[in-house]
Order: sequence, then structure tokens, then C-alpha cells
Amino acid sequence: MELSLLHAASPRIENQAALVVAFDLDNTIICADDSGNVHLRPGMIEAMQWLSSRGHKVWICSSADRQWVDLVFKRFPALGCHTERIMSCEDIDPATCGIRQFKDIIRLGIDLLVDDHEPYREDARRIYGDGVANRYIILPKFTAEVLGIEDGWRKCLTDKILCHEKCDGQ
Ligand SMILES: [Mg+2]
Repeated sequence: MELSLLHAASPRIENQAALVVAFDLDNTIICADDSGNVHLRPGMIEAMQWLSSRGHKVWICSSADRQWVDLVFKRFPALGCHTERIMSCEDIDPATCGIRQFKDIIRLGIDLLVDDHEPYREDARRIYGDGVANRYIILPKFTAEVLGIEDGWRKCLTDKILCHEKCDGQ
């Protein structure tokens, strides 16, 4: 049985805190190829469904502008079924976050950020320490070059979520 299905079959312990899990968009959820075609990362909708089924909130946190985010949601309407809130660059500008292009999960009210951009985690480590840095789940970059290649991202994500459910429930 697929790992994610095994996890889905095991219910969460009652009274666990719901986590706000925010996903980056470009090269995390989607990628564009040289012809301009946009691809959805295989398994992404199922992962969002899994999070929702465990009571967590799925947000989008993109440093792209809102127009691009809206276009992607139009292209893949299923994304909208599981997303509670969308934040684009208009919401995470330097005035909000202090550092240009830094997604500061503390200021944005996010528990866990799923992103392909490793430097965010290192910025978080420098500013807040390891506890906050561990809340940045960095996935392998999703690009047109790796389309169809299994990179283990779902196991990485589900393992981290299960781990944080335990920590945050205590
Ligand atoms: Mg990205």
C-alpha cells in the first residue's frame, strides 16, 4: 500500500492542534516548461487532501504576483478545493517581512512552510534559531526536467507533518 494511504488510514490523536501548512507555488506545486506549459506536481492534490482530512489548513504562500497565482488556480481548479487562503507577493513584501524575499512564517502566521527554496530556511535559522528553521519543509525543486521522476517528496512531506503533529500536540 502506498505510504500516504497508510498514513491516511491512521487517524490523528484527538485534540491535536490544526497546523497551517503553506505551500510555495513555483517549483513546489507547479512548474513551467520551455514552451510555457504549466505542469502540476503529481500527487500534490492528494497531499492537500490528506492534510485537509487530518484537520490542517492549506494555504498558498507565493512570492509571485497575485495575477500569476490566479492564472495557475484557473488552470488547475482542484487546487482551489483544498486551499483556505492565498498569499502572494503583495502580502509578503519587505515591509511585512523585514527582509526582501524572505517568507517569515512567524510574521505570516504559518506553522509549516513547504517550499523549494532552501535559503528561506537558513534565513529563519539565523533570525529565530533551529526550532523555527525546522518548520521550513524544503522539497526537491519541481522542474520540467524532472517531470515523471519520483523524488520522494510525498514521503518527505508526510513524515514531517506527522512529526510536527506529535510536537504541536504536546
Ligand atoms: Mg519556489
